[in-house]
Amino acid sequence: DKRLLTIGEVLVEIVATTKGDGFRAAQPLIGPFPSGAPAIFVDQAARIGAEAAIISRVGADDFGKVNLDRLAADGVDISGIAVADDGAPTGSAFVRYRGDGSRAFVFNIAHSACGQLELTREAEAVIERCSHIHVMGTALSAPGLSHLIKAAIVRIKGQGGTLSFDPNLRPEILDTPGLRSALGEILAQTDVFLPSGDEIFLFTEAQDEAGAVKDLLARGIPEIVLKRGAKGASHFCAAGRTDVAPLAVEEIDPTGAGDCFGGAFVGMWLMGHPVEEALAYANAAGAHAVTRVGPMEGTATRAELDQFMKDRTR
Ligand code: ATP
Repeated sequence: DKRLLTIGEVLVEIVATTKGDGFRAAQPLIGPFPSGAPAIFVDQAARIGAEAAIISRVGADDFGKVNLDRLAADGVDISGIAVADDGAPTGSAFVRYRGDGSRAFVFNIAHSACGQLELTREAEAVIERCSHIHVMGTALSAPGLSHLIKAAIVRIKGQGGTLSFDPNLRPEILDTPGLRSALGEILAQTDVFLPSGDEIFLFTEAQDEAGAVKDLLARGIPEIVLKRGAKGASHFCAAGRTDVAPLAVEEIDPTGAGDCFGGAFVGMWLMGHPVEEALAYANAAGAHAVTRVGPMEGTATRAELDQFMKDRTR
């Protein structure tokens, strides 16, 4: 089996338990929940049975430990997570839900331990063991991280490995200088592209979905997996198109759905399962994620997803 790697911020989320227009003094909060898009992705990949590792950096504090303990318990190779010796803390985010269900954040990541992520000996050893890298667009907006990710791509592709790419972009970071060209360079090396909704138009002038898919395939991207939120998902490759219908779920917390979907799809793909099967488990992992409060609380094992699908097939 192929071993996958992702690189990026690991943080905790502390979540308001009531909806409202702003944080109020001394309001009830729950957490810390392990979080960070790459951490959720890699946790889901490991739980579905793939060999999965992450390179990151946490503080020598309890928030770091919350993440290390969870990831290790779920089977993720955490040997590439450095623990800061310079007093830098683990990143954190305070989250509240607005009345319409959308989320607002107070981030504490500007000076987090992950900002000083370096290529340690342990991280190099992890890269050497890996044959697949999953890249997230958000990580590319951070200069230090972006540098390390590019170095890891060169190594893993040089070792004959493969690459999956989830642009995972918040519109406000798209103006980061150099980000668009960096994303374009990643896309050119992508084996599996995992856009969500309108992200399929990020790298094409095409006006409709079919045109965008055609354009991306023509440019040599072998596989595209389009996430459609509550409408399910589709896979496109030269051999044709495969759709998966959404499972009927009650959406409690949408956080992490895309990362769980991606972790399950890439994990199954690397273990050699057919597209239909990988897509079905990914669709179930995304749906399962929205039924749980907390970003990483919705990851699931293959057996749990089997049961989940059995209970909910429309
Ligand atoms: P995120 O909000 O985490 O960035 P995303 O936009 O990358 O997510 P989504 O398209 O929201 O990803 O969700 C990923 C997948 O999870 C969907 O393609 C679908 O398979 C599943 N999914 C998400 N939300 C629902 C839902 N409400 N009902 C059923 N399935 C869902």
